[in-house]
Amino acid sequence: MKDVYLDYSATTPCNSEVLDTYIKVVNKYYANPNSLHKLGVEAKELILSATKQVANLLAVKESEIIFTSGATESNNLAIYGLINKYPNRGKHILTTHLEHSSINESLKYLEKRGYIIDYLKLDKFGKVDINDLKSKLNNDVILVTIAHVNSETGIVQDVNEIGKIIKDYKQTTFHVDGTQAIGKIKVKLDNIDMYTISSHKIYGIKGVGILVKKENIDIDPIIHGGKSQTIFRSGTPASGLIVAMSKALRLALFDIDNKYNHVKELSDYLKENLKNINNLVINSNQNSIPHIVNISVFGIKSETLQHSLELKNIYVSTKTACSKDSQKSEALEALGFDDNISKHSIRISISYLTTKEEIDYLIESLKDIINNI
Ligand code: PMP
Repeated sequence: MKDVYLDYSATTPCNSEVLDTYIKVVNKYYANPNSLHKLGVEAKELILSATKQVANLLAVKESEIIFTSGATESNNLAIYGLINKYPNRGKHILTTHLEHSSINESLKYLEKRGYIIDYLKLDKFGKVDINDLKSKLNNDVILVTIAHVNSETGIVQDVNEIGKIIKDYKQTTFHVDGTQAIGKIKVKLDNIDMYTISSHKIYGIKGVGILVKKENIDIDPIIHGGKSQTIFRSGTPASGLIVAMSKALRLALFDIDNKYNHVKELSDYLKENLKNINNLVINSNQNSIPHIVNISVFGIKSETLQHSLELKNIYVSTKTACSKDSQKSEALEALGFDDNISKHSIRISISYLTTKEEIDYLIESLKDIINNI
């Protein structure tokens, strides 16, 4: 069997049209967009039209788009940009135990600087407990940061509803890490102050991302230097990456309903078949996007299962590709799963490119591995 890639939440292959755009821009529009000569102006115009396209696609203003190097930087910029801008605001930050390490580690660092990090209660399906959120919100809360979709289990949060509640607190900014959501489910940014996006999760090139920052929200830059695409992030604008990112976003949002339905069909089929396998449990739940199916097999460690699948040319993740502790999943622990599950989980992530043959091969391979270990 050829390679069966089922790790699309770790990263996606680059769409060939996106790559073509990148190559064209890099070859033809190589001038510094901040140079005042004709070639510089042409490169700048390209960036402006890419920014406009992104803004239209996300239904926000052009001035609200900040290009970064990826979601890790966007998350850091959202958090530190805000904290540094308002040193005299409240010292409380609300978040969940379902965040990516680029949020977790940033918040842990802030804890050392005297900030108090409060983790919101989750219901049995992993959704933020709205009553807990309401009881914890007050004017001392400077930031609420929540992942739209959890990268390990696919659990979705009602960020729109949460945003409506936070709007009553003028001193509180609402940041959402949308890295695993955009391109998979529909995203509405009306009630969100800052939103993180990464190109390489939507069939784009690695090394570029976006922080959407609403006009009424002020932040300090975390990378200081010369003039750039915005005043919030210095460095010569990466014209090729920016234009390729706007193309990746356009393609990712194109035909999103059909792509979603294809993934849902395969995901439902997979889950239906996995139910019949002894010693295997599905950790993703009814609130998870179909693109992510997290499972545990009792008695088989995550790494062992991952490598056994790899021997059959199937590629999946244990936890998320970038978490620090390789032993167990904090997300699954927070969802109330015991060690038996949180130390034995793997994440299967499905794309609109995935075929039924690939899913059938995965099911057969899992049965084979479990029967033989
Ligand atoms: N947030 C989430 C939810 C993610 O899944 C990831 C990537 N694993 C990131 C942030 C970081 O993305 P990037 O690789 O673009 O820095």
